[in-house]
Amino acid sequence: MTTVVESRPVKAAVVRAERGAFSIEDATIAAPGGDEVLVRIVAAGMCHTDMVIRDQIYPVPLPIVLGHEGSGIVEAVGERVAGLEPGDHVVLTFDSCGFCRTCQHGVAAACRNFNPLNFAGARNDGSHALSFASGSVNDRFFGQSSFATYAIATARNAIKVRRDAPLELLGPLGCGIQTGAGTVLNALRVSAGSSFAAFGAGAVGLSAVMAARVAGATTIVAVDVVPERLSLALEIGATHVVDGRKEDVVEAIRALAGGGVDYAIESTARADVAAQAVAALGARGTCAIVGASAPGTELVCDINDVMQNGKTIRGVVEGDSVPAFFIPQLIDLHLQGRFPFDRLTRVYAFDAINEAAADSEEGRTIKPIIRMPS
Ligand SMILES: [Zn+2]
Ligand SMILES: [Zn+2]
Repeated sequence: MTTVVESRPVKAAVVRAERGAFSIEDATIAAPGGDEVLVRIVAAGMCHTDMVIRDQIYPVPLPIVLGHEGSGIVEAVGERVAGLEPGDHVVLTFDSCGFCRTCQHGVAAACRNFNPLNFAGARNDGSHALSFASGSVNDRFFGQSSFATYAIATARNAIKVRRDAPLELLGPLGCGIQTGAGTVLNALRVSAGSSFAAFGAGAVGLSAVMAARVAGATTIVAVDVVPERLSLALEIGATHVVDGRKEDVVEAIRALAGGGVDYAIESTARADVAAQAVAALGARGTCAIVGASAPGTELVCDINDVMQNGKTIRGVVEGDSVPAFFIPQLIDLHLQGRFPFDRLTRVYAFDAINEAAADSEEGRTIKPIIRMPS
């Protein structure tokens, strides 16, 4: 189905300087071509990776429109798009190529072309969907740049969702929540009756806690240093919490889980915490490393502990998810009351985007959601 639209006015939040603020600016967005879809953004979650780029820990070019947890309504589709049409409710997720070896194996989150598709700041041909009077601004962040009233995505990374779900809250399912829940359900495949620990009780770790409960783990430990996060963890599925500032984390988990946990997720991106997560595993346990640390960060652990206890350490991106299946599954679980991710969220108006960033970084809000003006 083809819909012809002219370019249209957009308001977009631009980061112009390293560690700089978001400034809301006027732009225009092109009509979708080929396999692209134009989405009116209803809301977009704010994820730690947005801050990683703002702070230039990853070398993604500035100035840029960030935002990679968009939810919205399809306004128009390019001539090669099948399966999406205007009016569809969509969650925007990471982009992938669909033809590399790992995509062919169904692991699009490990796409060989992940970086050029999600972090280049432009389409593959170097062009931009957004035009600013002030000059060139990078976009296409995670195939979307959804801190804006409209975004261009592709048919691969715009996931159609059921219309009775709360669209304004769904964007974080496209990255942070998918990462935590997918690591538990898709990558680790946490089993009923097993033990699990989440190192870091932010959006990723708490999503993992909720998913571990869905999976039937009977010992679920959340580790953090923020008391409010630990009490929320207990409300949404943790059976125990450990305050990293007050307790010896490894000893505490070993005592709670019969010598160590079967599964762990490390989402803090801190090398010392990752080492604790490996040490806290029991025999044959697996630790998933999911936090985005600075390039060159090294994990130091006891080789004999890993070898003699048959431990596994593995990296996971985006929860090993196939988003077209997994995001609708999470929505179904949510609507059944079994995955209360809304407990992590707080909604901010678009012009309060800098307040949302500050609240997130200072631990006052776990998952900010930026609501676009309609
Ligand atoms: Zn690929
Ligand atoms: Zn993210």
